[in-house]
Formats: sequence, C-alpha cells, structure tokens
Amino acid sequence: MRVAISGAGVAGPAFAYWMGRTGHDVTLIECAPSFRAGGYVIDFWGLGYRIAEKMGIEAPIRAKGYEVESLRVVGADGRTRARLQVAGIRRATDGRYTSLPRGDLAATIFHTVENDIETIYSDSIVGIEERHDGVGLTFASASPRDFDLLIGADGLHSAVRQLTFGPDSMCTRYLGCQVAACVVDGYRPREELVYATYNLPGRQIGRFALNDDRTLFLFIFHAEEPDVPVGLDACKARLHNEFADAGWESPQILAALDEVDDLYFDLVSQVRLDRWSTERVALIGDAAACVSLLAGEGTGLALVEAYVLAGEMHRAPDDLRRAFDGYEARLRRFIEEKQNRASKFISFFAARTRPGIWLRNLGLQAMNIPLVGDLALNRALRDDIELPDYAI
Ligand SMILES: Cc1cc2nc3c(=O)[nH]c(=O)nc-3n(C[C@H](O)[C@H](O)[C@H](O)COP(=O)(O)OP(=O)(O)OC[C@H]3O[C@@H](n4cnc5c(N)ncnc54)[C@H](O)[C@@H]3O)c2cc1C
Repeated sequence: MRVAISGAGVAGPAFAYWMGRTGHDVTLIECAPSFRAGGYVIDFWGLGYRIAEKMGIEAPIRAKGYEVESLRVVGADGRTRARLQVAGIRRATDGRYTSLPRGDLAATIFHTVENDIETIYSDSIVGIEERHDGVGLTFASASPRDFDLLIGADGLHSAVRQLTFGPDSMCTRYLGCQVAACVVDGYRPREELVYATYNLPGRQIGRFALNDDRTLFLFIFHAEEPDVPVGLDACKARLHNEFADAGWESPQILAALDEVDDLYFDLVSQVRLDRWSTERVALIGDAAACVSLLAGEGTGLALVEAYVLAGEMHRAPDDLRRAFDGYEARLRRFIEEKQNRASKFISFFAARTRPGIWLRNLGLQAMNIPLVGDLALNRALRDDIELPDYAI
C-alpha cells in the first residue's frame, strides 16, 4: 500500500518502521522545516519501552538518556522539602526506564527508516478526500496526491484529526493547566541527574541540567480558560505574569527565559474520541488519544499504538476495517484507563493549595519507604494489557 503519515514525531516514524517491515511504501509529511531533535525531556518506560526493544533501538535510546537519580522538591529558600529516589521507579519497571529529550527519542526512531521512506518537510495536509478505494490528499505546498491509507500522527492538535473528525474543541478535553518548556545555555546552579521542582499553589517550575551546559525549564500553571497566548513575546509575558513573584530562582529563570527563541507553550489537554479511524484514515499517538504529560507515558503509548495498528493490518492484510477495529478493540480501554488516571494526577503537578502541596510532598517522600513505595509504584506504573506478538 501507499501509506501517507502526517507527523514525524514519535508515533509517525514508529508506524513507518512497522510499515516498512511489512512491505508498504511510506511517505512521511512533517510541517517543521527539518527533523526536530532535543526539546523537553520525557520519561520513557512501560510497554512502549518493550516495543523499542523489539525495534532494536534500546541501546541508542539509552545512550541518549539521562539516568536521573532523584526528584527534589524545593521550598522558596531552595532547601529540600521532599525527595523521591528514582531507584524505586527503576525497580518497578525492571530497569526499563530512562529520561531523554522527546526529539531525541523521535530521531532515534526516525533513523531506522529515513533511508527507506520519502519524507516531506515544511508541508501539511490541508484537504482529505476519502474514497472507497483510496484517499486523495491536498497539501499546503506540494501538488495533490493519492494514497491507499492516511495515518494522522500529527500530535495533540492533529490536522488530520481536525479534517476528519472535527475541530479541537470537539475532540480535546482541557485539564485546566498550561505548560511551557524551554532550554537555555549556561544556567547556574546545576544539579546533575536531579530534577528540581518548586511549587506554589497552582504553579510549578522545574529545572533539569542537560548535557553541554544546557538547562531545561518546565513551567506548569493552573488557568481556568484554555487561552494560549499567540507569539513568542506574548508567551514569555504570560510566564512573567504567572511566575514573577513566585520565589525560589524565579527571577533568574525568567531572565534566562527572556533569551530563548524557542519556547514550547500549550494547553494540558487530552484527546477523547469515540473512534480512531474512518474508512481510509486512522489516528495514532497524541492525535488519537493524547493522555497528556500528566501520564508521563505518552511516547510509550504512541509506540504501542503504532505497533498494534501495524500488527492488526498485518493480520488482516485485505481488510482495513477489520484491522482498524482490531486496533481499537485491543487498545481503547487500556488507553482510556491511562487517561482517567492521568486526569487525577493533576494535583501532583499543580496542587492548588498549600495543604495540597504538603500532602503531595508527604506522598512523594513515602514512596521511598521499602515495600510501601514499591507496592505503590508497581500499581501506578503497571500496564494492564498483554500485547500479541504480531511476528512482524
Ligand atoms: C511538557 C511535556 C512533558 C511530557 N512528558 C512526558 C513524559 O515524561 N513521558 C512521556 O512518555 N510522554 C511525555 N509527554 C507526552 C509526549 O511528548 C507525547 O505523548 C508524544 O510526543 C506523542 O507523540 P506523537 O508522535 O503522537 O506526537 P508528537 O511527538 O507531538 O509529534 C507530532 C509531530 O507532528 C508534527 N505536526 C504537527 N502538526 C502537523 C501538521 N499539520 N502537518 C504535519 N506535521 C505536523 C509535529 O511537528 C511533530 O513532529 C510530555 C509532553 C509534554 C508537553
């Protein structure tokens, strides 16, 4: 089949990999001008990690990963209020756990296919005409083309989803928080392999020291309205507004923020759809069922969805409907459960009251207690699903 995939993030290249294994021709369409490595740091673990092992990319992922030692919660004076040792998480995940920039994970997957597929940058699908025997695509720049199948792997604000299932307002559920992330050079202080985080009611700043003397900052704050500012300056101004009087290192962090020209800023939302496919279009990754950063597993789940969709297509080579139904039947409840759990986790990220922050810190600290912590982490991190071996 001629398969068009919109989005060269995590899910898109992963699906391209499995399509290549099963003998299909892939065209990947990415709106960015080139492949974007780096970016915010994600924790990578769970079932998705096992899929990465199947793909033979565990070693390069580990090579790019940071073996984080602890999460340190600080007070306004910078002193430790609570600490979670990551060793417990490693035990709960059999050591299948690392942290790396999202774009580096995506690039590692992309390198497995880049020489075997067509990749179009700086373009986007603007029209989809589904027919019984194929799908006609029109692009912002390129000439129209026909494919047998279209996969939307273009993230939380997927263009394919909007063109096929309706606007974001119909498909996404805002969780009441906004998130921003940026990377700066030369910030001090540095704490190697420690994620330092500072909370005020409804607000959190995190910092993590990256290689090459860079530092990642993550801002999360409660906001009633889902109104993301437009443009870099407006986003910076918003963060200044939210964090100007926050305490801890916020003055120097905001000064460092002023120097960046690349800032991620978005709503914390989930994608909730009744179906992930139509006749010739299927969604994977955040486009289908974004769990949000609160789940800490969106990349792994994107890999799972890519694998299962490709596997179901392999099992029903002449029957896309059956393959799509198989894909959804196998994963829908599992993913919805992840989404439900993630929604409840909001009080961990952006506790709204001081007692809430205090309780959260207590809970974090308790995770270090042998047995108690292991039990809780095993429960929180387990994936309640068995995937078939599709032999692809
Ligand atoms: C701050 C933050 C922290 C997170 N932390 C974690 C974590 O710890 N662990 C974890 O597993 N997950 C985490 N996540 C979630 C994770 O990043 C996503 O779930 C994951 O990246 C989803 O992969 P994807 O391929 O579906 O989408 P993406 O990785 O978002 O990729 C989508 C791709 O599509 C492209 N695109 C967008 N629109 C178009 C278009 N119109 N045409 C063509 N291309 C387009 C984009 O440029 C991008 O390359 C976090 C998310 C955020 C925001």
